Amino acid sequence: MSGEQLLIGARVVTEAGVLEDGWVLIDGARIAAVGSGAPPIRPSAERVDLAGNWLLPGFVDLHVHGGGGYDATASSEAMAAAVRFHRSHGTTRTLVSLVTAPLDALERQLGWVADLVAEGGPVVGAHLEGPFLSHARCGAQNPAHLRAPDRTEFKRLVTAARGTLRSVTIAPELPGALDVIGDAVEAGSIAAIGHTDATYAEARDAIDAGATLATHLFNGMRPIHHREPGPAGAALGADLPCEVINDGIHVHPAITSLVNRTPGRLVLVTDAIDAAGMGDGDVELGGQLVRVRDGQARLARSGSLAGSTLTMDTALRRAVQVCGLSVPEASAAASGTPARLVGQRDAFGAIEVGLAADLAVLDADLALIRVLSGGQWIDGAGLTPS
Ligand SMILES: [Zn+2]
Repeated sequence: MSGEQLLIGARVVTEAGVLEDGWVLIDGARIAAVGSGAPPIRPSAERVDLAGNWLLPGFVDLHVHGGGGYDATASSEAMAAAVRFHRSHGTTRTLVSLVTAPLDALERQLGWVADLVAEGGPVVGAHLEGPFLSHARCGAQNPAHLRAPDRTEFKRLVTAARGTLRSVTIAPELPGALDVIGDAVEAGSIAAIGHTDATYAEARDAIDAGATLATHLFNGMRPIHHREPGPAGAALGADLPCEVINDGIHVHPAITSLVNRTPGRLVLVTDAIDAAGMGDGDVELGGQLVRVRDGQARLARSGSLAGSTLTMDTALRRAVQVCGLSVPEASAAASGTPARLVGQRDAFGAIEVGLAADLAVLDADLALIRVLSGGQWIDGAGLTPS
């Protein structure tokens, strides 16, 4: 990743708007300059003509369990391989989501995440999806390992993560949940409301206690009722950023569009499991059998949706082509907004001078063509149909 690269002839998506006939100068792993029209004269830079295609910041996915046949909780190697699979679909920064499991297993997995963060690759940190979740709304989380929120146990998990716990999903109605939400915020983590049967009032209390995100809005939570708006009503009413699994299965396209009405509210995530990119078949998630048919992943025992087979390039393309968002709006939901949520918007998540050279090249139909991660082109990226 030494030397300069000059990317020219692109429709560059920045937070200030689209630069037609735009160019981006990259120095090593960082963006050195951005503009439109005549590019700077840099004889020593490698020139890459992007032939009128879209250039977006690489995607930031806050919710990933696996992909490409790899379950991130199976081993540290599988975790790294799942992250590589998603990078080939444009996700240049990711949290690794850990499903509800016994505490010692979670501690071990948090250690793998911390090792990957230390390597300086795409892994930003861990997302704990449990174990402090509602039995009534556990979805595909293994109910055998759900626990009541406990500050001492949470501290064990924070310690195991060695400063890399970035998000924890909690059901706020459980006794002790508000204390753990406070502890999470103090530990530098997002506290997210999810897998919850909370009332509107209980969810509002969680927001007052510091919760700043709704985990896959509408999925794994009490639905909106006009006399009891529940956690979804509280999250939307407070303009809380909301994760949306935009695969056309988990929510209606109109929901994606509705959440996007307030700038900075929509957060596109995949919630992908190992079956992403693998076609139909049977896989395991947190010790439970999951059947994948026609791209839908469901628990064999209950038929409950069990994560997705989505990738971020598809989530973004659907946001534009099916849900009616503009490309800059969809790009913000896929990159800038999640980067802000993890407090790293000054490091990645936009095409700006000084930020990491994490870029996705998309054709006129928004199909992913190429991926640049930390200034390096990723082999095979965009070649898998999705
Ligand atoms: Zn999940």
